[in-house]
Amino acid sequence: MSERAATNHCPYCGETTLWPREDGWECRSCLRAFSVTYLGMIPRGGEQR
Ligand SMILES: [Zn+2]
Repeated sequence: MSERAATNHCPYCGETTLWPREDGWECRSCLRAFSVTYLGMIPRGGEQR
C-alpha cells in the first residue's frame, strides 16, 4: 500500500517511469512530458440534473 493514487502509468508507452515536473509529468522511458490538468469538481448524483 505504498503506491500513490496518482498518475503512475505513461499514457503513451505505459511505463511507470514517471517523474513529476512543475507543469506535469515526464516519462523517462519515451521521453515525453505531459500535464494532468485538474478541471474542477464534479457534482454528486450525476445521473440526474
Ligand atoms: Zn512513456
